Amino acid sequence: MSDPEPTATAVAEPPAAAATAAANPPVGTEPAAAAAADPTTRPAAEREPVGARDGFHRVVVLGSGPAGFTAALYASRADLAPLLLEGNQPGGQLTITTDVENYPGFPDGILGPELMDKMREQVRRFGTECKFEAAVEVDLDVRPFVVRTDENVYRAQTLIVATGATAKLLGLPSEEHLMGYGVSACATCDGFFFRDKEVVIVGGGDTAMEEALFLTRYATKVTVVHRRDELRASKIMQDRAFAHGKIAWVWNSVVTEVLGSREGGVEAVRLHNKKTGADSVFPTQGVFVAIGHQPNTEIFRGRLEMNDVGYIRVREPTSRTNVDGVFACGDAMDPIYRQAVTAAGTGCRAAMDAERWIEVQD
Ligand SMILES: Cc1cc2nc3c(=O)[nH]c(=O)nc-3n(C[C@H](O)[C@H](O)[C@H](O)COP(=O)(O)OP(=O)(O)OC[C@H]3O[C@@H](n4cnc5c(N)ncnc54)[C@H](O)[C@@H]3O)c2cc1C
Repeated sequence: MSDPEPTATAVAEPPAAAATAAANPPVGTEPAAAAAADPTTRPAAEREPVGARDGFHRVVVLGSGPAGFTAALYASRADLAPLLLEGNQPGGQLTITTDVENYPGFPDGILGPELMDKMREQVRRFGTECKFEAAVEVDLDVRPFVVRTDENVYRAQTLIVATGATAKLLGLPSEEHLMGYGVSACATCDGFFFRDKEVVIVGGGDTAMEEALFLTRYATKVTVVHRRDELRASKIMQDRAFAHGKIAWVWNSVVTEVLGSREGGVEAVRLHNKKTGADSVFPTQGVFVAIGHQPNTEIFRGRLEMNDVGYIRVREPTSRTNVDGVFACGDAMDPIYRQAVTAAGTGCRAAMDAERWIEVQD
């Protein structure tokens, strides 16, 4: 990805992986040469303060959501001059929403994209180098670790994985257009905006049932639209949802379009009944998509321990992974809470863990 906002502090980077490997062989493959080239293995007096040299960084953060920026904030204030790779969604998930009212410190709420711009500004102030690149490959079997993007190769003494998760969506243009304007992928985040309104929730798993039940606190009616005639959710969640007087059901149906406008919000959904083939318009004031999340951890598969969905396992209560020197935070390791503030909290943990780990190595 091209860098729309090149940073003034960018270090001279080798043009290609081969050049980097030749100039800076990974520690472990050619020990003597690598030790000479590697700032962490030189005596303290000879060492450059901290920061980047020939693509080497003490801390490389992958991800520019609340977790990545918080990790970078702490690492940069600890004088570790981190490199932060923003990935393909600079600013992370909050850039696809509008009002965020549950991030502390903003009594009037703040727009998601604005909050993320502020976080970027804050980390840059303390010396984080932010690059609009995505890691396409990582080698965690060499020291320093190697991180490859389409543009560059970086070497990292420690790696903080804050690559987040992607809420699965229906893939409809109208859904994308109205996201944050009546369409949401997070009931905990946005339920509050639907007080005394009627909403639809799409999905049939545990998350959909949890979100439907949560939404009954605000909405007058919650209609679950499910593409089959039975739920995937656990028995206990089904029982709770079936027993709730505010929850209604539309079976064997899929949403094919969200009707409404950014000015006026959602007005209805167009439904297609898969059994009868009939199309209908169902009036509603909100649409919650609850069909699951996919953690963005594919490049670590087979190397970092994960659960079966792909959430990275950490050594609770720390952010340590099964690879020494690699730390994980935010939605990439959190299948439960998935909030901006919890992501930021674990980002702080990851930076402090990395800092302490580096201290022990030195
Ligand atoms: C529509 C919507 C509304 C929401 N509203 C709220 C709300 O109001 N309040 C709230 O608390 N939470 C809300 N959330 C949840 C919140 O956005 C997430 O919990 C939070 O953003 C997670 O932060 P994160 O830093 O872990 O990851 P993300 O925000 O998911 O960011 C991940 C980052 O990793 C980067 N990345 C991915 N792969 C790579 C790679 N290979 N190399 C480099 N970088 C990579 C991406 O580009 C991105 O910058 C909402 C979520 C959605 C989808």
